[in-house]
This record gives sequence, structure tokens and C-alpha cells, in this order.
Amino acid sequence: MTDWVVGTVQKTIYWSKELFSIIVKAEVDYFIPGQFAKLSLDINNKNIQRAYSYINAPSNKNNEFYIKNIVKGKLTSYLLNLKYNDKIMISKKALGTFTIKNIHSCDYLWMFATGTGIGPYLSILQDGNDLHKFTKIILVYSIRLIEHYNYINLIKSLKKKYNDKLIIQIVLTKYTNNMDKNILYGRITTLLLNKILEHKIGISISKNTTHVMLCGNPNMIKETQNILQTQYNLTKNYIDLKGHITTEQYW
Ligand SMILES: Cc1cc2nc3c(=O)[nH]c(=O)nc-3n(C[C@H](O)[C@H](O)[C@H](O)COP(=O)(O)OP(=O)(O)OC[C@H]3O[C@@H](n4cnc5c(N)ncnc54)[C@H](O)[C@@H]3O)c2cc1C
Repeated sequence: MTDWVVGTVQKTIYWSKELFSIIVKAEVDYFIPGQFAKLSLDINNKNIQRAYSYINAPSNKNNEFYIKNIVKGKLTSYLLNLKYNDKIMISKKALGTFTIKNIHSCDYLWMFATGTGIGPYLSILQDGNDLHKFTKIILVYSIRLIEHYNYINLIKSLKKKYNDKLIIQIVLTKYTNNMDKNILYGRITTLLLNKILEHKIGISISKNTTHVMLCGNPNMIKETQNILQTQYNLTKNYIDLKGHITTEQYW
């Protein structure tokens, strides 16, 4: 049974029609970066609850969630309208194993995200604990259009903080007329299969040096994991069985 606490909305940030963030003050337990909370509202006398990754570091008491507004979504269409001082239920304990704590030291940590799946990485990178386990971190962020690149200032400040240790690669799935040479275009899976991603970063994926985290769209996760397993011989990581791939699937 979930133990709930009442949270108070501090702010809603509207990035676009599709994307928003909410900041909630609540007496939640300490969480591990990469974990998620459950948010819940009573809607038409029904309790609707869904999982959302923390994007803040645990030391920051403004609990922040980055959310995609799903058309006719049972919860998001209500979360979208929350205003300052509104109440929302939040799970006291965080859940999930998508954390650095569960990953062994290696040279290269690849963080792959689609859409709102950037959330756990923002928490992990803002927190910074345990990242000494890796020589380099490569954040590969796939979105449809550059207009969907939110949290850009935060990501720029993380780049400054980690300097050469952090490589950020934006991938746009929609081609545009004004192609930017710093951006890769296409799907993560295609860019992996044709080696364009590794070539652009200048680092190879290999089972002796690499751990890969995958977060967001279930198709990206399934297909990328399949490529990593069949073409690179990487294996799934479990708490009690060391491997190279850690995943968090959003639906
Ligand atoms: C561990 C975990 C962590 C999650 N963290 C986040 C998060 O940080 N931010 C977030 O926006 N969602 C997150 N989700 C998804 C979230 O829990 C809800 O499923 C989502 O917000 C839709 O809820 P809804 O009731 O409005 O839609 P529903 O009426 O339940 O409709 C669900 C459908 O919405 C689509 N969908 C769900 N989530 C997404 C998404 N993120 N992007 C695009 N399409 C989606 C899928 O087609 C899914 O079948 C997470 C899910 C899990 C399991």
C-alpha cells in the first residue's frame, strides 16, 4: 500500500502545449536520484495515480516533475491545470532502481533519453554523487523538434559543472531545412546501427568499458536494448547480476 502525503503546488511551468513541469512542496522521504514518485488526484470520485521521475536533486526540497500532456490522458489533463497552492497527493517513499547506486564502475556511462525521459538524468547529474565511478558520461537526448529542447539552461549549467567529463548529444527525429552540424538527425536505433552516433562522439560502445541507461519511450528502449544485446554483446543489469544495460520504461 502506498503511503501518501499532501503536497502543495508551488509552480506550474508551461513549456508548450504538450509539455509542462510542476513543482511540489511535500514532506517526502529522501529519494535516490533516478527514482520516481507517484502523484495522485481524486477525479470524479476516482483516485487516479501515475509515476513521475524526480528531476531535482534530493537536497532540493522543490520536488519537480517534467510531464508530457497526453491528449485525453486520465491524469495529465488534470495535472496540467494545477495552480499555485493547489493540493496533490504524492507518495512518501520514492520507488525504482534506475539509479547510479545500482551500476558498477566503468569508463563510459551512456545515458539515452527520449522526451520527458530526460528527467532521471537531470536529477542524477544535479546531485552528482557517485559519478566518480565513470570517466565520461555521454547524454544522448532524442526529441522530435528543437522546440522540445526544454531545460536547456539547466543542461548548459551541467555541462559547465562537469566540463569534458560530460558530453551532450542532441538527436532530432524530425529533419528540418536548417540542419545544425552539432545535432544528429534520425532515430537513436538507426544512428547506432550505422555507427554514426559512436563516430560523432568519438567513443565506442564495448562490453569492457560501457554501461548504458535507457529511459522513456518503450519502443526506443526495446529496440535499442536489442541492438546492444545482439550487436555489442551487452547484457541486462540486475541488482544481483552485473550487466551493462539499465532501463526505465515510461509506458
Ligand atoms: C517509472 C515511470 C516513470 C515515469 N515518469 C514520467 C515522467 O517523468 N514524465 C512523464 O510525462 N511521464 C512519466 N511516466 C508516465 C506517466 O506515469 C503516465 O503514464 C503519463 O503521464 C500518462 O498518464 P495519463 O493518465 O495522463 O495517460 P493515460 O490515460 O494513462 O494514457 C497512457 C498513454 O499515454 C502515453 N504516454 C504515457 N507517458 C508518456 C510520455 N511520458 N510521453 C509520451 N507519451 C506517453 C502512452 O501512449 C500511454 O499508453 C512514467 C511512467 C513510469 C512507469
